[in-house]
Amino acid sequence: MEISDFSLKLKTTLSDFRNVAIDTIEEGPRQVPRSEGNNTVNVTFGKVRNGLTNVCPSRNFEAYKESFFSHFSELNRYLTLCSSSQSFRSAWNLRSEILNNFDAEKLISEGAQLIPANENSRVFRCEQQGVLYGPKKRLILGVRHSEGNYGDSLNQVAEFKYQPPTDCSGFLRYRFCHYISEKLDVPYILLVIMWFEYRINDNLNQLFIIAPAKIINKNNQLKNLNKNLHKPLELQLIDRKEAAEALLVLDSRKDSLDDIIFREPLSDSLSREWSYNNISSGEKGKKVKRWAKENGKKCPGNLCQNKPFKDFPLSKLAFGHIISQKWAKAFTYLLKSVHHPDNLYLTCSNCNSSLSDKFPSSDLRNSIINTGTIGDWIRDKEHQIKSL
Ligand SMILES: [Zn+2]
Repeated sequence: MEISDFSLKLKTTLSDFRNVAIDTIEEGPRQVPRSEGNNTVNVTFGKVRNGLTNVCPSRNFEAYKESFFSHFSELNRYLTLCSSSQSFRSAWNLRSEILNNFDAEKLISEGAQLIPANENSRVFRCEQQGVLYGPKKRLILGVRHSEGNYGDSLNQVAEFKYQPPTDCSGFLRYRFCHYISEKLDVPYILLVIMWFEYRINDNLNQLFIIAPAKIINKNNQLKNLNKNLHKPLELQLIDRKEAAEALLVLDSRKDSLDDIIFREPLSDSLSREWSYNNISSGEKGKKVKRWAKENGKKCPGNLCQNKPFKDFPLSKLAFGHIISQKWAKAFTYLLKSVHHPDNLYLTCSNCNSSLSDKFPSSDLRNSIINTGTIGDWIRDKEHQIKSL
């Protein structure tokens, strides 16, 4: 079962990255491409250590954790002001620093929100520096795109590269943001920011457009940190909804709840593949049942006194719902998720029918958690189950 104590995971991520960086990064010059030619950055052990102290500090973890979560809640508040990825693409492809009324109208109709410059926000302020950092410069809040950046093309699926700043901390921060997304198994979300000249009056003459993007693992940059240290970030524009979902998962980790085990969300495709409709009858469900029998799992119900599944024929095993189907029909917002593998558990038919449409008691609930939901089994043993 996937058990994740988030704090521990985050702490380990910090120290693992430090160790990999110290053990593998070699001294020497790195070339960062710019439109006007390459910039050389001289990497030394001293600079690597300094950069690490800032990017993934080894001390005062509680303070780090707090700044980590406040970083992402700030980001979350900016999502409301984000434009659709389609409109952002169109804005990018205007290839102009000046916006006219006709283009503006087109962008708005595609879901753009054009936001006047505002000195009170670091995002909506005209600054030349490309990368925008979160609190204490630990994480990347956004990147500013301007026409004419080196290699600034956006491909068909809205992916693009963003070159690092020319310093060692900047390199490390790029790789570290990527590293945490892989280790915590949550996409790393940041803002992409563009602005245009658009004259409203003498004081108001700039409009911003922002969109969320995520770090993608296109060239396996983490595989060889030394070789890829100075490589660009690979990013993909995404919609607000996807960004909001990723941030929601992170936010749910903020408060540790003693008696709750966090589970990584199952992907949409796995959730559909192993939903009630697909396993309640047919070969897929039989595979799950066989796997449970062969792996010493027991019925979580107490009517049969937790008999091992191997003592039942397949036909006497059933998939129970934690939140019942009837309850979901009464409160229809549940209908979308009632057949999700995380709402399902394997049980003997007798224990299942005795529960009827009632909720599991706390004893039964604990017993289900110990045995695992179908979702838990899929997270861990999908390949084994499929092969049966
Ligand atoms: Zn039973």
